Amino acid sequence: MPKIGVFIETAEQAIKKSVPGVITVALQGGEVVGFVLDGLAEKYKETLEKFGVTQLVNLCAPDIEFSKHPEAAGLALAQGVKAFGASALVGVSSPTGNDLLARAAMELKAPLALDCIDVDFKENQVKKSHFSGKAIATIEMKADCFVIGIRPNSFEAVPKPMACTITDHHITAATDEGITIIAVKKPDTAVKDLTEASVIITGGRPMGSNENFKILEECARTMDAAVGASRAAVDAGYVPHSMQVGQTGKIVSPKLYIGCGLSGSVQHFAGMKTSDVIVAINTDKDAPIFTKSDYGIIGDLFEVVPALTKALKK
Ligand SMILES: Cc1cc2nc3c(=O)[nH]c(=O)nc-3n(C[C@H](O)[C@H](O)[C@H](O)COP(=O)(O)OP(=O)(O)OC[C@H]3O[C@@H](n4cnc5c(N)ncnc54)[C@H](O)[C@@H]3O)c2cc1C
Repeated sequence: MPKIGVFIETAEQAIKKSVPGVITVALQGGEVVGFVLDGLAEKYKETLEKFGVTQLVNLCAPDIEFSKHPEAAGLALAQGVKAFGASALVGVSSPTGNDLLARAAMELKAPLALDCIDVDFKENQVKKSHFSGKAIATIEMKADCFVIGIRPNSFEAVPKPMACTITDHHITAATDEGITIIAVKKPDTAVKDLTEASVIITGGRPMGSNENFKILEECARTMDAAVGASRAAVDAGYVPHSMQVGQTGKIVSPKLYIGCGLSGSVQHFAGMKTSDVIVAINTDKDAPIFTKSDYGIIGDLFEVVPALTKALKK
């Protein structure tokens, strides 16, 4: 049976939320070997074996802290793929995933496709959204081994309990003196990560101020949602760029996307059109967003959102 390597991305000793969905996809291609870079495979085993991982590998290089040396981390993943005979390496298309998967692909001299929304291991094909979501490209990966990043939340994680073994694999990665990550500025812990959120509520230009975003935050808390913004709201200085959704912001794919005061620009849709359900709140019944949404509420967001929050609190 073919083996598919999965980069088990973690942050602060916790598995990233989108990893189980990636494992579910990888299982379509064969047995899953999970590669762990922080040496904590034992800690993650219980969770990962519930989703079908049969082998977990601690990639070890005693003198190297992989979180500070992405070039060594990429090399370690590539060496893991080779040592365990995986025919593909799959990970989450997060900022870290995109960085390390690209480095691993370079080491493996393997084709790379990031931000994939579908994979067909039988045909060695992936699907990606192109031209701001106007077209879906089907790409053939013409090689014995290829590397792919999956758009977060694109696949539902399906439990598949399996027994999992743990192996330590020592790699020969060397650090490149040219790159050392010396500090990582963590986002405000009160702000939920947009790319991993199952529900997102986003404010557009009519939000009018940073203060007004509090009504979205309050509503978000009732649903364990993340708060996003359009570029118009970001450019106006109401919220930071890290909250921007769209072509030049974050690409998101939640189960539910609630757009408040968004006109429905193609650039905004490029970042959220793969959401399962889109709800739009807009005062203008002719706003383009209504033609692209599953549900529309014609109304003032400053009345509708507090009413929604009240209803959700009940
Ligand atoms: C190269 C390029 C890249 C871009 N990248 C991005 C990107 O990544 N993300 C992005 O978002 N944009 C991006 N843009 C900008 C994009 O073209 C739009 O200008 C922007 O998305 C509009 O933001 P908006 O919908 O918040 O504002 P507007 O277009 O001004 O729409 C506001 C809407 O709110 C409605 N409204 C007004 N008051 C209320 C109220 N009280 N209650 C409810 N509804 C109300 C109005 O009817 C209107 O439809 C990009 C543009 C370019 C050229």
